[in-house]
Amino acid sequence: MDIYARLAAFIPKQSCVLCTEQSVFCVCAECEASLNIIHHRCRSCATQLHNDLHFCGECLTQAPNFSSAYTLYQYDGSCAMLIKQFKFNNRLCIGDFFAHKLQEKYQNIVAEFGEYDAIIPLPLARNRIRKRGYNQTDELLRVVAKKSNIVIDQQSVRRIKATRALSRLNLAERQLEIKDAFSARAMNYQKVLLVDDVMTTGSSMSELAKVVRKAGVQSCDVLTLARA
Ligand SMILES: [Zn+2]
Ligand SMILES: [Zn+2]
Repeated sequence: MDIYARLAAFIPKQSCVLCTEQSVFCVCAECEASLNIIHHRCRSCATQLHNDLHFCGECLTQAPNFSSAYTLYQYDGSCAMLIKQFKFNNRLCIGDFFAHKLQEKYQNIVAEFGEYDAIIPLPLARNRIRKRGYNQTDELLRVVAKKSNIVIDQQSVRRIKATRALSRLNLAERQLEIKDAFSARAMNYQKVLLVDDVMTTGSSMSELAKVVRKAGVQSCDVLTLARA
């Protein structure tokens, strides 16, 4: 048996949650290729663009409080299904798959645009963590935490107000709903990366960026697994 065959024997095989094929992760390479990656996105908020511009209309009218947003997938089809399975049915093997993908994306961003001083996950309301038993963003950042020296700061910002779903509200209503949802203590970082699983309207992230910048951080970027 050569070294690769011997090593391969140690890699646990699981069946793909989408097609049941045996695979290293519980999403096989073929199903992974079916996830919708859109490259033409707003440079500011990562929404999909349907024209030749670099920014969407909403960002041109009122730029968010973060500088650049990055995302891996469009939130639709199998991607939306996988994220829901992970979040609501405790399928941690899906979280493991996404955590590896998020780490690859993070490495690419850092290689291209430079290091961050810290990662701040979007804080969840406490009762949501209690209900679910864990914070899914911790799971998503597990591989980043293991493979790089970045500080993952979960202490400096707290969620102080639970909010209703923002996706059905208009921009003004969203801003009102999310206002004062976070509180932060003073921070010494220059540049931080805000992380969440899905960005829908960008209002929560923009509010988080506002609070973080008020607490002394000079600039914020955003990384999410998926963008609606
Ligand atoms: Zn598959
Ligand atoms: Zn935009």
